[in-house]
Amino acid sequence: MKKTGKTVVWFRRDLRLSDHAPLVAAAQRGQVIPVYILPSEADEESLGAASKWWLHHSLKQLERALEAKGLRLIYRSGPLLQALDEICQETDADGLVWHRLYEKRSVEIEDLILQRFRERLDFVEGFPGSLLVEPWSLMNQSGSPFKVFTPFWKRCIQRLSPARPLPSPRGIESPTNWPRSEGLDDWRLLPSIPWADGLSLEWQPGEQGALAQLDALLGERLLAYYDERNRPDHEGTSRLSPYLHFGELSPRQIWAALDSFAIRNGIGGLTWKGWQFVSELGWREFAAYLLYHFPSTVSEPLRAEFKHYPWDSKKTHLKAWQQGQTGYPMVDAGMRELWHMGWMHNRVRMIVASFLIKHLLVPWQDGAAWFWDTLVDADLASNTLGWQWTAGCGADAAPYFRIFNPITQGEKFDPNGDYVRRWVPELASLPDKYLNRPWEAPVDVLRAGKVTLGLDYPHPVVDHPFARQRALDGYAKMRNA
Ligand SMILES: Cc1cc2nc3c(=O)[nH]c(=O)nc-3n(C[C@H](O)[C@H](O)[C@H](O)COP(=O)(O)OP(=O)(O)OC[C@H]3O[C@@H](n4cnc5c(N)ncnc54)[C@H](O)[C@@H]3O)c2cc1C
Repeated sequence: MKKTGKTVVWFRRDLRLSDHAPLVAAAQRGQVIPVYILPSEADEESLGAASKWWLHHSLKQLERALEAKGLRLIYRSGPLLQALDEICQETDADGLVWHRLYEKRSVEIEDLILQRFRERLDFVEGFPGSLLVEPWSLMNQSGSPFKVFTPFWKRCIQRLSPARPLPSPRGIESPTNWPRSEGLDDWRLLPSIPWADGLSLEWQPGEQGALAQLDALLGERLLAYYDERNRPDHEGTSRLSPYLHFGELSPRQIWAALDSFAIRNGIGGLTWKGWQFVSELGWREFAAYLLYHFPSTVSEPLRAEFKHYPWDSKKTHLKAWQQGQTGYPMVDAGMRELWHMGWMHNRVRMIVASFLIKHLLVPWQDGAAWFWDTLVDADLASNTLGWQWTAGCGADAAPYFRIFNPITQGEKFDPNGDYVRRWVPELASLPDKYLNRPWEAPVDVLRAGKVTLGLDYPHPVVDHPFARQRALDGYAKMRNA
């Protein structure tokens, strides 16, 4: 049968060619016009600097992969609706397809697209694929959204048996006339300061990089994941987060890869410790689910009483934290890792977030904004969940009185000090005993370690016992308000 359709494939955070249902559907209809539209500020939260860096390189990779199939990637700037309108008219397209996203503004725009284009085009469809479960499909027994992870995830697992991922379509037909395209370089997504060198050293954005990273997981790292996932001094986690965020890999592909790995190694079943990894994907699902049902939580606490917390936001403290100069080595190591590689280990994210909120009393929104700008995996849903969880004001959150001790956390999860020594090299020669508490080191130990506090490394910005008590007092005040 002759395929006569002409379909615009609107790439968004699904920068891959495999397991791409919209692309498959478009290829089945006929000619395919792949498009990426840089959203305007009204369309989406503006991207942070690290995300822009990633996006630039990821789009370059996608462009190359499409070229290998005889296609181009058309670049256009938003507003999204206007850009899509123009492209459909310029190309005389009769179809428009995309992967769904679940943030409030994305949902609203998709609704508008459906309204506007369904009348004009023959085939208009948003496909699932960024998540394992559509957020509107799960409710608790009383018909409300889940606010606790365990029952949410239990219900998901009962439902889940994801279909096999789709292969990348072959022999895709290109359009007879291409629409105009802007230049990716003209978008100036790359930073103008040399900060991104570390990102280039550590990451390979794009689908190939994603598959290589998944491959690196499927072996010893996966088998040891359960025991190693809290150790920032080891490369014990998957580092798949930016690939998942930009959709260079789908959660369904990961699920299928784990499944095959378990079958190959004769260790199937949900009791296998490797499935602990799948429940981390569950947290990603939970984050997207919560943001879908509670969109105001990007800026407001889910638990309203936290609006009255007596914050004490000194800009100097925020700056010291951002620069990794708080005088608490584990906190500073994490913040410097973030600056260097645009990523931070989950355990350390919790430690630095707790420190900012509870030791320095800086509002969690300020920390979330810094993460948003500097993380290559910056994700509105996961970042919001992470910060609200740590602050104690979100769904299924850590209780407020659980205040991470940055000293003992360092000693416990970085027992040999390798992580701190890597990122805070000025303390590298201190013995383990004082590595996380250099202010307690006797003068001769500091001298032997070539450290002068206040000169080579800062004094602590705040005293831990004092800060802990102050945070608890603030909590009591809030509860009595
Ligand atoms: C304050 C704070 C802010 C955070 N901000 C983000 C963010 O902007 N983007 C982001 O992707 N994650 C965020 N996280 C969650 C988590 O830290 C990262 O997903 C994880 O460190 C990524 O490393 P990984 O890929 O090696 O994780 P792995 O341990 O290998 O986990 C596999 C995947 O599961 C998902 N995942 C794991 N833990 C979580 C979690 N707690 N919440 C949501 N998804 C999770 C991620 O997609 C991750 O890639 C944040 C956590 C905290 C405490």
